[in-house]
Amino acid sequence: MTPSDLAFDRQHIWHPYTSMTDPLPCYPVVAASGSRLQLSDGRQLVDGMSSWWAAIHGYNHPRLNQALQTQIGQMSHVMFGGITHPAAIALCRQLVGMTAEPLECVFLADSGSVAVEVAMKMALQYWQARGAKRQQFLTLRNGYHGDTFAAMSVCDPQNSMHSLYQGYLPSHHFADAPQCRFEDNWQPDDADSFTRLIEQHKNSLAAVILEPIVQGAGGMRFYHPGYLQRVRELCDQHGVLLIADEIATGFGRTGKLFACDHAGIAPDILCVGKALTGGTMTLSATLTTRAVAETISNGAAGCFMHGPTFMGNPLACAVASESLAMLAENHWPAQVAAIEQQLRAALLPLRDHPQVADARVLGAIGVIECRHPVNMAAIQQFFVEQGVWIRPFGRLIYLMPPYVIDAQALQQLTDAIIAALDRPALFQYQ
Ligand code: PMP
Repeated sequence: MTPSDLAFDRQHIWHPYTSMTDPLPCYPVVAASGSRLQLSDGRQLVDGMSSWWAAIHGYNHPRLNQALQTQIGQMSHVMFGGITHPAAIALCRQLVGMTAEPLECVFLADSGSVAVEVAMKMALQYWQARGAKRQQFLTLRNGYHGDTFAAMSVCDPQNSMHSLYQGYLPSHHFADAPQCRFEDNWQPDDADSFTRLIEQHKNSLAAVILEPIVQGAGGMRFYHPGYLQRVRELCDQHGVLLIADEIATGFGRTGKLFACDHAGIAPDILCVGKALTGGTMTLSATLTTRAVAETISNGAAGCFMHGPTFMGNPLACAVASESLAMLAENHWPAQVAAIEQQLRAALLPLRDHPQVADARVLGAIGVIECRHPVNMAAIQQFFVEQGVWIRPFGRLIYLMPPYVIDAQALQQLTDAIIAALDRPALFQYQ
């Protein structure tokens, strides 16, 4: 990549959440393999992010590449309206087989945010079909569900884009974020705010939507399975649907195949994405029960009203199917357990560091919550100089490496964090 390529990028290309007038530097990556990214100048970086939870098997995996190549030889894409194909059928069979028993009807879409839109539309159409005016959602503070409009409307009102779009977003109900931590003893009063809200609004609620166990982009917080069990009980008691957004947590990241498994509960609607294709292509799925699907289908519309152009894209389905086949070989539990053990040993002692407000680890996720926000440009440059790719946000420095990372590479990641904490210039002070 030439300097003029990078200048063009800076001048013309929007990156996630960046300014077009004063963008932070972007690092040119030209190849990736295993748990390493290669910069255009030849430097290798150990990847701590799995490209935002997605690349669980590592990059450039021969089996995933082969699945893509085989599918390309047959067809890259064909419309899904009135047509079906082997890759979608194989993938949906696997999804139905590996998710909780009541989930048996699959809607394939393009991204996590769209899976959330689809889930919310399913809940709305379900109640419409039953002749009930239930159009509100109940969710948790500190949640994050994506950047499209319905998804944004259930993101945390403080640390999301609510204020930017005030007056345009529908208003929903927000229970206090769970405070009881994953490893604490369960405190039943943690669900008081949620209980009050569901009792108060039960007749207008279409569904509860939440991220089970791990609140990701809204704060990287891990809450107690007892909370999720209580939510399930209350949804049953009051006849409210439960949507679990497992777009970040699905496929082993938390140490269970799905985060709902920590609580032994099944949602009525489940969203998955990100790691679904092993991080190779964009694809998501929304699964629901036969009862929800049949009710929607028997409603006035006679069908579910959604159908994206690239629905069930064969290339994405084929590679997702291979990724799930690799998960089914069951190497991930030991890999995730080893990562968890190493992250605990390296990161939890940092709770005593003066720069650190909290350190927490669950499965293959390690989080350092700092006392001050990071200086993004400075800390990113520092990490690259240390040979690692870690992308913090706000006061959070966190790791979710590919499951295939080796102990030495993982140590390079945690060593880089430890070194960063000792450099005050990498943080912002008001
Ligand atoms: N839900 C959760 C829990 C997420 O973490 C994300 C992405 N960070 C989304 C939804 C949105 O997914 P996407 O970015 O693929 O639209």
